[in-house]
Amino acid sequence: MSKILIVEDEVDIADLEKDYLELSGFEVEIEHNGQRGLARALSEDYDLFILDLMLPDMDGFEICKEIRERKNTPILMVSAKKDDIDKIRGLGLGADDYITKPFSPSELVARVKAHLARYERLIGSSVEENEIIEIRGIKIDKTARRVWVNGEEKQFTTKEFDLLTFLAEHPNHVFSKEELFREIWDMESIGDIATVTVHIKKIREKVELNTAKPQYIETIWGVGYRFKL
Ligand code: CA
Repeated sequence: MSKILIVEDEVDIADLEKDYLELSGFEVEIEHNGQRGLARALSEDYDLFILDLMLPDMDGFEICKEIRERKNTPILMVSAKKDDIDKIRGLGLGADDYITKPFSPSELVARVKAHLARYERLIGSSVEENEIIEIRGIKIDKTARRVWVNGEEKQFTTKEFDLLTFLAEHPNHVFSKEELFREIWDMESIGDIATVTVHIKKIREKVELNTAKPQYIETIWGVGYRFKL
């Protein structure tokens, strides 16, 4: 459940915002004081902040700036004056959105949802891990299309990479040259199954210590190739 912190000195407004956001399934906490609001914003984990601009002890500009220096959490600024919105934009404090009072609770909820969804997509894409295949000394990063052999990065052409990856993804499985050709090269490709042999040779030169005695890609005579597990 997403957790939201509202920093707002007007108790009625804060309660109203809280009620509507809770009805939409959010967990909401309120802080009526700017200093304490900032301290909580920095020390606890929230998914979004709703900051009132005019607070008695510390204004929303300052809070926004301080939060933004340390966190990427979405910040929605609330102000009673339209002019202030222009001022906030002009200052480039890093707020994600601005809303003027009075606003409808449904508008607030819609904006909160939109910012949370956007932020989650952002977080999701940045922490998504690359797909890695590791078999003994070979490490293949499928996402980045990079290969390391005993810690040393090796350069592969597109088809060499595809072929090595395909074999490594199916270890101990023997594939005929025909099967590999169909799998890696599309039907329009110019070439024949001899292409497979050429590519296997190139791959071996990069991954094998001794190409005469392959440790990774074995030749199964009369059948095809197999990636040794
Ligand atoms: Ca206020």
